[in-house]
Amino acid sequence: MPFSRVIGQDTPVDVLRRALRSGKTAHAYLFEGIEGCGKRTTALAFVEAAFCDRDDGCGTCPSCRKMATLQHPDLHLVEPDGAFIKIDQIRDLQRELVLRPIETPLKACIIRDADRLNPAAGNALLKTLEEPPGNALMILLTTNLDGVLPTVRSRCQLLRFAPLPERLIEEQLIAAGRDQAAARLAASLAGGSLGKALEEDEGVTVDRAGLLERLRTLSLSDTASLFAAAEEMAADREQAMEQLEVLTSLLRDVLLIQGGSNAVINRDILPLLENEAARLSRERNLERINHTTEARQALMRNANPRLTLDVLLMRLAG
Ligand SMILES: [Zn+2]
Repeated sequence: MPFSRVIGQDTPVDVLRRALRSGKTAHAYLFEGIEGCGKRTTALAFVEAAFCDRDDGCGTCPSCRKMATLQHPDLHLVEPDGAFIKIDQIRDLQRELVLRPIETPLKACIIRDADRLNPAAGNALLKTLEEPPGNALMILLTTNLDGVLPTVRSRCQLLRFAPLPERLIEEQLIAAGRDQAAARLAASLAGGSLGKALEEDEGVTVDRAGLLERLRTLSLSDTASLFAAAEEMAADREQAMEQLEVLTSLLRDVLLIQGGSNAVINRDILPLLENEAARLSRERNLERINHTTEARQALMRNANPRLTLDVLLMRLAG
């Protein structure tokens, strides 16, 4: 997994490449960014380059080949076991890190979801971060920076990974064999996550017509059905985020229609979108896009889904 496989993350990749070239890598890094934007790919590329004799990872030496299949004996991967990363996992890691590297100049570990260390595991990891074994490279990944213990965070060099531009995701989907229209729609709904866009092979599963209908019937004078709708949407956080992504895409199309553009993405339900465009003002539509985006970001930051959706649906109805 060489650096050339990382898409659209030039800034953090440059920082890491320069650190390798100058021989001044930090002991610990914290990569922050949404799911599926390239944190893990970058971490693997970084370790591969650090392990390989040639500066950016040659891809062909025995070490690089072992990295490609994640079978390298000096690489240790940690991810949550159930909801949390547990103390036993950190103890295993510590035992591993104090051993001499087997095939390379250093040992490396990648810890996924560093915001999900339980308190005991977090404190144990802190000890290692405070007194790192001389030849260890630690990379922590998180989608939720606020959830990472401040003491852990302060001992890592933070690198931020931006959501990927739609254009890049679309290109990748087309390269992966999707037709242009499907790629465009999926890219617009992916929220900057290539991983998510690639995952959704079967395309969009949200009932877009149903969502528009719900939007049309929301009413502040019928709060019982409004809260029932919020409850239903909030039952599954992942699904709620997906619905909000789709909703954003629909409202953006409505805005395009209102502005006289024909670059609509959800072209297959154009008449429904046109109805919606005729029903409300451009200003009001913009407000709704902002509310929806805010709610989606709140869910990404782990806000309570039920509260978030109660507030959102009231705002959309008002
Ligand atoms: Zn190599």
